[in-house]
Amino acid sequence: MSAPESGTVYLVGSGPGDPDLLTVKATRLLESADVVLHDKLPGPEIIDQLPEDRREDVGKRAGGERTPQSAINERLVELAREGKSVVRLKGGDSFVFGRGGEEAEYLADHGVPFEVVPAVTSAIAAPAVAGIPVTHRDHASSVSFVTGHEDPTKDESAVDWDALAATGSTIVVLMGVGRLPDYTQALREAGMNPETPVALIERGTWPGQQVATGTLESIVDVRDEHDISPPAVTVIGEVAGTREGVLEFLVNEANDTNDANEATKQTEEED
Ligand code: SAH
Repeated sequence: MSAPESGTVYLVGSGPGDPDLLTVKATRLLESADVVLHDKLPGPEIIDQLPEDRREDVGKRAGGERTPQSAINERLVELAREGKSVVRLKGGDSFVFGRGGEEAEYLADHGVPFEVVPAVTSAIAAPAVAGIPVTHRDHASSVSFVTGHEDPTKDESAVDWDALAATGSTIVVLMGVGRLPDYTQALREAGMNPETPVALIERGTWPGQQVATGTLESIVDVRDEHDISPPAVTVIGEVAGTREGVLEFLVNEANDTNDANEATKQTEEED
């Protein structure tokens, strides 16, 4: 018997978590795939509707360890070589802090055909549903998406906080709850106004979404007071201050329940 022709791997972003924000293409592929490899970040509403016999949770931590990326890569190739149609489902957009680039390289290196299915990234959507535009004609002409997962004091930090402070750009930090004290301090030391508005959006578009606002100076206390936990994005810049003016009529806010749900709290690495 000859080996089956290779199946295709679809690198699919789920959007920020509200199933209504899945793309039409993502929905179609989730219905037709032989198997869906996912982690926790797509959120409970999307994951719970995947048929149990066609899904594999590769975000699970056995004994505190997450599935290594190498094992996920190998599993994708293995399933494709069985001729299967495989969806690799990531939270937000797979190519924004989602390791989708690494998966694409691995698949290409192993001769597996793949398709990238772009999606709504939490970096834009979580601020948006909180009423915060990441750019605004009066307040910000550029926006930077950065990881907060690194130690800003380490010499080889890949994020240049000094440079970011100087640009006047909106800064959206992903994976940045734990190190909030470090990078807000780095930005203040770089000369950014301590009164700069800052917003934290936890589980944007999920049930239990929380939004908390403050300034570069106060936001660490605000985080602690509201018990903001991952997954959350931090928005730093004048745009974060525009929220107040629209809040009264922002209907998205009706979804805020503010009841922290422990089961859906996450660690901060890229899944
Ligand atoms: N690929 C994802 C990002 C993965 S990195 C995307 O495009 O959205 C993981 C980080 O994403 C989390 O630590 C958090 O900062 C952010 N994140 C993902 N989903 C989120 C959501 N629904 N609300 C707030 N932040 C979210």
